[in-house]
Amino acid sequence: TSFAHFGFDEQLMHQIRKSEYTQPTPIQCQGVPIALSGRDMIGIAKTGSGKTAAFIWPMLVHIMDQKELEPGEGPIAVIVCPTRELCQQIHAECKRFGKAYSLRSVAVYGGGSMWEQAKALQDGAEIVVCTPGRLIDHVKKKATSLQRVTYLVFDEADRMFDMGFGEPSVSIYSQPSLLFSATFRKKIERLARDILIDPIRVVQ
Ligand code: AMP
Repeated sequence: TSFAHFGFDEQLMHQIRKSEYTQPTPIQCQGVPIALSGRDMIGIAKTGSGKTAAFIWPMLVHIMDQKELEPGEGPIAVIVCPTRELCQQIHAECKRFGKAYSLRSVAVYGGGSMWEQAKALQDGAEIVVCTPGRLIDHVKKKATSLQRVTYLVFDEADRMFDMGFGEPSVSIYSQPSLLFSATFRKKIERLARDILIDPIRVVQ
């Protein structure tokens, strides 16, 4: 598979070319078409596999379609991950590739300023990258609304589980929903079964 197989438009291809990737990684080859098709997915992939771009590129395509269908407030895509560092890394990638369409990303994580994050959310962003507890805090304080979310990603789900985040306490119905985990364990399978609909499993 080459990047041309994904059918991305010129703006997104331009950003990908700037990153000097010569070809998609295996998780990208398998995962991108699934996410583009709108199916739920479980991706078993480690850091270094290119999994972040595998969910960001289809996310950008999805957001551009959805923005026209549903103008309004609140993020269209939410990426949930276990730590502040990962939040910041994913947010940086969202900004980098999101430039293709001038999309805005906000990172909200525990330990950061509640007030600054709330302000960023209220200024408007199509993408929110968050740790689970902090997202819930903002929703409760009505700094943002998740009504418009139709693309949901759980990244490093196994680490989130180990840190004590179980099933999300704010339920978001979103299609597609994607769950990534470095390992495949019983509890991840159970979590996936609870939050995903008929997912396709991809192993790196
Ligand atoms: P990740 O597994 O998402 O943490 O990505 C690991 C690293 O691989 C990051 O530094 C990415 O910039 C890089 N990367 C992602 N996709 C590709 C690709 N297709 N070719 C080369 N490097 C890539």
